[in-house]
Amino acid sequence: MNMEEYIKGLPKGAVRARRDGTYTVVPRMRLGQMDAELLEAVSRAVRENGLAGVRLAASQRLMIDNVPASALRAVVTAVGLVGDAYAHKVQGCQGAAGCKLGQQDSLAAADRLERMLVDFSLPAKLKTGVSGCPMCCAESLVRDVGLFGRKHGWTVSFGGNGGKRVRGGDILAENVSEEEAFYIIRRALVFYAEHGKVKERTARFVERVGLDAVRLAVFSEPQA
Ligand code: SF4
Repeated sequence: MNMEEYIKGLPKGAVRARRDGTYTVVPRMRLGQMDAELLEAVSRAVRENGLAGVRLAASQRLMIDNVPASALRAVVTAVGLVGDAYAHKVQGCQGAAGCKLGQQDSLAAADRLERMLVDFSLPAKLKTGVSGCPMCCAESLVRDVGLFGRKHGWTVSFGGNGGKRVRGGDILAENVSEEEAFYIIRRALVFYAEHGKVKERTARFVERVGLDAVRLAVFSEPQA
């Protein structure tokens, strides 16, 4: 099997070609976390293949850079689990479980969101951020779907984007329960899935259809 076929056979996001002809291998991580086993596997892969080390990306994942083609299979095999576990990206902060400013359990909500998103086939990639308080360390307000906690519940935003055309997400609800927040997110995503154009991110979608249309879709009574 040649290199191209080998990479195609790996999970999405597992290996990236680099400008200099080497590769980046991406160990599988969820919500910025690694267990001891994965840490040891990464360390072994780096050491045994004479690599310099790892880089931490903004997406809360480790990148093993500068892997030559000759070592790619060995590094992937040594790491074990690589690439994306889920199609849509969820970023979460420690929240109430570990941060003294946390007001809601953002890691648990991020985990729930990741699992909920498995059901969705969407027009474009989706990035989400779940933060335990309004400091928004998980960048909730510049994500397609954002959640952040306050003392009395969650704030839900939709249509945010970073990158070259930054857009703050529109607030769909404040101080709602986790159940209500997930209901709102689901309704917004169903509307987006049905009416978004191919490759149209939520920021551009909201600009095109208008926030009122999104609100109407989210908050109108579901049809029987
Ligand atoms: S968003 Fe709030 S809870 Fe989360 S890490 Fe930042 S300060 Fe802590």
